Amino acid sequence: MRLFGDYHTHTIYSHGTGNIEDNVKVAIEKGLKEIAICDHGPGHFLYGVKKKNIPLMKEEILRLNDKYSKDGINILLGVEANLISFEGMIDMDDELIKHTDILLLGYHYGVIPASFGDGIGLYIKNPLTKFSGLGKKKSIEQNTLAFIKAINRYPIDFITHPGAKVKLDIRELAKEAGKVGTALEINAKHGELSIESIKIAMQEDVEFIVNSDAHTPEDVGNIEKSLERIKNANLPLNRIKNIRT
Ligand SMILES: [Zn+2]
Ligand SMILES: [Zn+2]
Repeated sequence: MRLFGDYHTHTIYSHGTGNIEDNVKVAIEKGLKEIAICDHGPGHFLYGVKKKNIPLMKEEILRLNDKYSKDGINILLGVEANLISFEGMIDMDDELIKHTDILLLGYHYGVIPASFGDGIGLYIKNPLTKFSGLGKKKSIEQNTLAFIKAINRYPIDFITHPGAKVKLDIRELAKEAGKVGTALEINAKHGELSIESIKIAMQEDVEFIVNSDAHTPEDVGNIEKSLERIKNANLPLNRIKNIRT
């Protein structure tokens, strides 16, 4: 079993501690063949990547690909975009997406919503359902539908840590993600997909991907925690896009 690539790593362009080259060097040391640099989408008001930096990151990555091609590594530019509306809008437009090689989608707090109503629903009501069961089912339905709309609107390669920070109907999401070829991430840093969620999702025709979500260079390629959950859920390794058996 070998990890081919780590497709979810952060740098100083959002709130990671290393620069792009630091992450690449660790990826080479760990024998990875690909690494994606995926900082938080520009809609995050605390640590979103600045829109003007996206083309600059692309240039830097082209340069680093030249420098390190002898080491057998391919470097991709991605963004961990944020869901910003119940209509499935994300904080990336076509112009910005053109610069990327890979597109991730996740749910995070601290994101500027598309409208006042989306803000109330996505970021105020959702956390409240944790304290009272009231509206929980409805919230889960709405959140799940928002993700489904987003993966049908945008070329999203995978959904990051599905079910972390926001509750989702994993079965429904897995079913629809499988139809459009969007994978579900088994994230090493967050506990999602959980063992329970993996067991549900694997009943549907969907692919999985495993990533470190490294925020420091040393963590690039660290997927031990995900592997434990994969083992406990009995997920066959050939269903994971970036693992070679
Ligand atoms: Zn995330
Ligand atoms: Zn992340």
